[in-house]
Amino acid sequence: MNLNLLIDLHKDGQRQGPGSDEHTRLALKHADLDRGKNYLLADIGCGTGASTRVLAAELNCTITAVELVPEFTQVLRNSAREMGFSDRLEIHNGSMDQLPFESNSLDIIWSEGAVYNMGFEKGIRYFSNFLKPGGVLGVSEITWLTASRPPELTRFWETEYPEIGTASEKIKVLEVNGFKLLGYFSLPTYCWLENYYEPLESRFDEFLDRHQSGEAHELIESERQEIALYRTHHDWFSYGFYIASKA
Ligand code: SAH
Repeated sequence: MNLNLLIDLHKDGQRQGPGSDEHTRLALKHADLDRGKNYLLADIGCGTGASTRVLAAELNCTITAVELVPEFTQVLRNSAREMGFSDRLEIHNGSMDQLPFESNSLDIIWSEGAVYNMGFEKGIRYFSNFLKPGGVLGVSEITWLTASRPPELTRFWETEYPEIGTASEKIKVLEVNGFKLLGYFSLPTYCWLENYYEPLESRFDEFLDRHQSGEAHELIESERQEIALYRTHHDWFSYGFYIASKA
């Protein structure tokens, strides 16, 4: 897939995946952190910074926002200036599998809707190296909500992302890799539709005015299919939010 097209489609979004400010705050509650402490936090795959802004507002932390796409982090940089937390924000444009941290150095690692780029297990194992003992991990990850479901849905997601699993499977992966679960919840449909898919859909026409290539049409067609699949089948899957601490 043409990365420039993906960037152009997503850079004007409030977020680049399902979620909400309330659910970032809810996940923080599960972590039971001290608002006054100057934690070192990394927000990995931060996109244009939806979660980063909430984390900066809720905690007196110093944040390194890690993101491959500079066009996305430019949006975050501007909003940090407007909101007054630029002095607590460092942006690292690079890949999440080559993090610029010392081992055992971070208090909190956050990553909403992004760890799938490495794969859940590989990602949480790698991130764990950089957390201090007792440090907190908050990740959201596509999750089956039940043990069985319509076969066409299983087929779709197992082609897209074979590591998709139920919450109990993901929690097990966290446990066998040295994490203690602090909390779990799944995101309700408005986090997908109102907060992510509907704003995305509203940008399709202008996007296709800007880009007339076959590739651009294919991209929009695949986004439309994913959205239609969600509208039909949202009872069966969502993002699960996993909050855990490094034992
Ligand atoms: N956390 C944001 C973005 C989620 S979308 C939100 O919830 O809105 C996933 C993000 O991961 C995108 O911004 C994408 O550019 C970024 N990404 C993809 N592969 C990456 C990699 N290897 N390293 C760092 N970021 C990556």
